[in-house]
Formats: sequence, C-alpha cells, structure tokens
Amino acid sequence: MHLRGQGRRLNAALIDLKTERNRRVPNPDQIIIAGAGIAGLTLALALSKKGFAVQIFEKSATLAEIGAGLQISPNATRLLDRLGVLERLKYSSVEPEAICLQDGASGERLLHFPIGNRAKERWGAPYIVCHRADLQDALLNEARSHPNIAIQLQSAVTQHGADAAGILVRVQYHDRIEEHRGALLVGADGVWSNMRTATSDAERARYTGTVAWRSSIAVEHLPASFKALLPPGTNVVAWTGANAHLIAYPIRSGQMINFVAVAPDRQNGRRWDVQTNPDSLNQNFIREFAGWHRGIHDVMLIARPWTAWRLFEMKKCRFQIEDRLVLIGDAAHAMTPYAAQGAAMAIEDACALASALSVNGTMWPSALEQFSKVRTKRVGAVVRRGALNHLAYHAKGPVAVARNILLRNRPVEKFVKGFDWLYGYDAEKENK
Ligand SMILES: Cc1cc2nc3c(=O)[nH]c(=O)nc-3n(C[C@H](O)[C@H](O)[C@H](O)COP(=O)(O)OP(=O)(O)OC[C@H]3O[C@@H](n4cnc5c(N)ncnc54)[C@H](O)[C@@H]3O)c2cc1C
Repeated sequence: MHLRGQGRRLNAALIDLKTERNRRVPNPDQIIIAGAGIAGLTLALALSKKGFAVQIFEKSATLAEIGAGLQISPNATRLLDRLGVLERLKYSSVEPEAICLQDGASGERLLHFPIGNRAKERWGAPYIVCHRADLQDALLNEARSHPNIAIQLQSAVTQHGADAAGILVRVQYHDRIEEHRGALLVGADGVWSNMRTATSDAERARYTGTVAWRSSIAVEHLPASFKALLPPGTNVVAWTGANAHLIAYPIRSGQMINFVAVAPDRQNGRRWDVQTNPDSLNQNFIREFAGWHRGIHDVMLIARPWTAWRLFEMKKCRFQIEDRLVLIGDAAHAMTPYAAQGAAMAIEDACALASALSVNGTMWPSALEQFSKVRTKRVGAVVRRGALNHLAYHAKGPVAVARNILLRNRPVEKFVKGFDWLYGYDAEKENK
C-alpha cells in the first residue's frame, strides 16, 4: 500500500497536556475523521445517528477557546437541532431580534431586517449568535454521549493509503506512530488541510490580503458614544465603509459583545502578531477607520486586545480527493467571512455526507460522487453571495451612495425573499 502525506512532529509542549483517548476494539468498517473542529464533530454525530462507528483523531491536546463569535443561520441550526446540539447551546447562544446595517461614518440606519421570529416562521429554525468555543463544547459533549464515537486527542493524521480492504491511516500519537484501519477517511482538518495538500495537484488556500480583527468586551464596559449608535434590542449590527466593515453582536448569553472588523492588510504580507500591542493597533488598524463615527473609535480603543486573523480562501472547492478520502469544511472550501457561512457550510457538508453514505448503503463511490456534485453547487452559490456582500460592504464613492439608496428604499420583504435559497436549504434532504 502506498502511503500519502507528510511526517509531522507533534508540538512537544502539547504532549504533557490532558489526553482524551477512549479506546475501543479496532473496527475496519469504521469511518476515520481527521480533525475535531466544527466539521469533524458534526460529522461524527451525524454518522453515529445513522449507525456508523466513528474514530476521530485531533492533533491538539485540548479543544480549547479557539476563535471568537459565530453567526449560525437557520440552514445550519436546523441540522444542529436534529443532532441534539441546539438544545445544548440554548443558554450560551443568543437569538438576535434583527440584523441591522448602518453607515460607518454617520451611523445612519440603512437597513433593519427583523430575524428573530421570522427565521423560525419562514425557514423553520432559529438564527443564533454564539462563541465558537460554546458551539464546539456543545458538539463535543453530545459526541461524548455516543458510544460509537471515539475521540483521540494529541493525534495528528500524518499519512494514509488505500487498498481493496479499506484505508490505512498513520497517526502520530505522542512520540510514536500508530496505524488504524477504516472504510473511509474524512479530512475535516481545516484551512491548512494535510489531507488536501498531500496530493500533488492540490490547491493551497490563497491569502486574500485582508485581515479580520476580532475582539470582545463585556456589555457593562461599552462606551456611551457606542451604545448611542446601537439600535434598541439585541441585534447583529454591521457598519459599512470604504474598504472596511465592522460587525458587532452579543455572545456568552448576552454578557459580551463580539466584534469583527475586516480591513485590508497594510502590513503588505508581513507576519501579524497573534495579538496586537497598543502601538500597532493604533498605527495599523484604527487608522483604517479614521473617518468613522466617534462611537466606533471609542469602542475600538476600549475593546482590546484585537486578534488579527488573516483571511484565506480557495478558488475551487474540492470534496473528493481519492476513492476513500473525502474533505469537508474549510479543508474543502476555505471561504471569506462576508456571508458568515463558513461554519454553516461545514455543518451542512457533515450532515449531507452522513446522509449520502447512509442512503446509498455499500454504493459509496456513487454516493460520494453525488455528494461532491451537490455540495460543489451549493458552496459555489454561497461563495458568490460572499463576494457580493464584500462589494456591498466595502463600496466607496458613487457605488456606496447607490447602495445606501437601495438599502433604504427596498422593501424588507424583498430582502427576506432573497435569503430563502440560503436559509431555507435542508442539506440532508438535498443529499437523499
Ligand atoms: C473572521 C472570521 C469570522 C467568521 N465568522 C463566521 C460566522 O459568523 N459564521 C460562520 O458560519 N462561519 C464563520 N467563520 C468561518 C468558520 O469559523 C470556519 O469556516 C469553521 O470554523 C471551519 O470549521 P472546520 O471544522 O472546517 O475547521 P477548523 O475549525 O479549523 O477545525 C479543523 C480541526 O482539525 C485539526 N487538525 C488539523 N490538522 C490535523 C491533522 N493532521 N490531524 C488531526 N487533526 C488535525 C485542527 O486542530 C482543528 O481542530 C468565520 C471565520 C473567520 C476567520
């Protein structure tokens, strides 16, 4: 058997940390998942519900507080609900009343899009906002209650190879290499996917030249000038401006406000510090929002540290790599966050894949082909929506004026209708 992949040394610092390793008798029919992020954990749950045995390998020692806030739209919450995860998120997530667009310079309201009850009535599931760590916790806790899901941390999948009997996966666990057999390997290993780059013709994720700055602040510390800019109630608010935008919404049961500010990378490709010091914050980041409303400036200075996330994307999504190797989530289609759909697409991929595999029984090759076809079309449409949002959010000059006129005057019902294809979608049904 020819093995693909690359040798990888585990970070020695991780080795001493807590290990989760619930051992099970090796099962050659099991499905092996590389990565216990949003995509990997959701897939494990969806497969387990359909009777499959699942083994997840996660290279990190702990599934910790990585990331920041996430908006999760009804196309994903309907799936989380079926998996029992939405219930677990009930106390930490928030259902915003509306999504509001405002002008970054004047603070003027451009669009007020009520979403609270509408999401459930029209699209059959809620629109929620939460911390990524709360979502990952809810997925993990649900997974731990399934006896046919085994999770092994500190375990990086480094190589794989297939033969008629199935797939052989090599895993670096502490200082030794383990071998595991399964029927299928799913790479849910994120934007830097080893599973994807192990193939010679693989596309690598491309840097967009744009950075998302993320921070959060306790509600009681919000400056008055910023509070005055907020519409009444609990909302997702986006401020638009030339080449940049800022989004704010509540997380952690509404105790904190999460911020995402997206702007061009003025460092011209030099490495960003993981967290900024106040000087680079002032020089490189706040400067981008120079002409913006005072309330926005005030909150940006208070809500520190800001963590920089360089934004990467792939030009083409790619699901099936080999007969027994499939990618899902960011590994298959890293995308920019303008449509707030990266995690939602990871959740859709996972449920669609489980559905396709269960419906097609032993006919996996055709199931995977069909899955790949349906998901490529769907993700392509979402990526195009993201590109459109990018243009609209960051418009300047006459284009910005035209955008503002359209947003102010177009009936809200027309905007609502324009989201039916996105939020009303049921990924499981589409893959049956
Ligand atoms: C600024 C910003 C804002 C965003 N906002 C939203 C939003 O509002 N709504 C939304 O839906 N999405 C949003 N997203 C996107 C979303 O965060 C991602 O799309 C999503 O987290 C991807 O999940 P994943 O499981 O595919 O990958 P990840 O979460 O990256 O998980 C991959 C996992 O694989 C593990 N791994 C890697 N290599 C190996 C290996 N060799 N072996 C074993 N394990 C391995 C990693 O340690 C990790 O745990 C946003 C993204 C950004 C940057």
